Amino acid sequence: MKQPRYRGRFAPSPTGPLHFGSLVTALASWLEARTAGGDWLVRIEDLDPLREPPEATGQILHSLDCHGLFPDEPIRFQSKRHGAYQAAIAQLLESGKAYRCRCSRKQLQAHGGRHPNHCRNGTTGVGNEPFAIRFALQDETSHWHDQLLGPQQQQVHAEIDDPVILRKEGFYAYQLAVVVDDIDQGITHIVRGSDLLDMTAQQQQIYRALGAQPPHWLHIPVILNDQGQKLSKQTHAPALDDTRPAENLVQALQALGQNPPPELAARGVDAILAWGRANWQRQAIPLTSRQARGITPGTH
Ligand code: GLU
Repeated sequence: MKQPRYRGRFAPSPTGPLHFGSLVTALASWLEARTAGGDWLVRIEDLDPLREPPEATGQILHSLDCHGLFPDEPIRFQSKRHGAYQAAIAQLLESGKAYRCRCSRKQLQAHGGRHPNHCRNGTTGVGNEPFAIRFALQDETSHWHDQLLGPQQQQVHAEIDDPVILRKEGFYAYQLAVVVDDIDQGITHIVRGSDLLDMTAQQQQIYRALGAQPPHWLHIPVILNDQGQKLSKQTHAPALDDTRPAENLVQALQALGQNPPPELAARGVDAILAWGRANWQRQAIPLTSRQARGITPGTH
């Protein structure tokens, strides 16, 4: 059977400017797509305006440009895709694979993750109280293959793990939107940080419930700061310095276990990306999280 053309993507949530860890993810997904002769897309996962400073999207796109990482298609914004998420939710409710839930986090905790309102069987009315919509997982031991980490086994617990797909506040949730868009954009290969590894088996069930084949996944280790914390907005990861793209890219290649020659940084962004394409060794990516030298938490 003919393999579909490789389509990869980088899908940041704009909770802040790009930091070194997100550059490593962007670069790894770009290199995988380029060396496969495929397409590389950028999607801004702007689902939660309360967590997203308005300037973050512009900063992310500017950083990607400065680092020579240009997508092959117009950028997609999840904030413009509510109709598609609503349609997917309607389909899942219709087929009994999603349900309305008005349990509070506290109630769920007190019941070991079981729903005291028996939301899953839909017998309790939701009245006027705000409700979330959850995806109804099936109990499963999921076996799948990560393209870097090898065979994976993940346990999925029905009810206890059921992810929210529409939040009580009315926002569509990551677990649904990411799958709806990866299906719609024909994404065949996902390269992302291993902090999302645990989500994968649940997402596979959402793919199937929406009648689609799950893609291939490759989870790269997350980058840690000098204190051993994952670089993120929460740990105050400093924004990438867009005036030093060559140095950043060489450091990102090193974080991905590649071995760029010392003189490469002086040759500029295009030469570094060309070297990366010509010499990319997926099997050299380290399997475990590692500290990037000299990354200390920023102050913002
Ligand atoms: N938007 C997610 C994040 O920034 C990544 C989604 C994904 O790659 O699956 O953490």
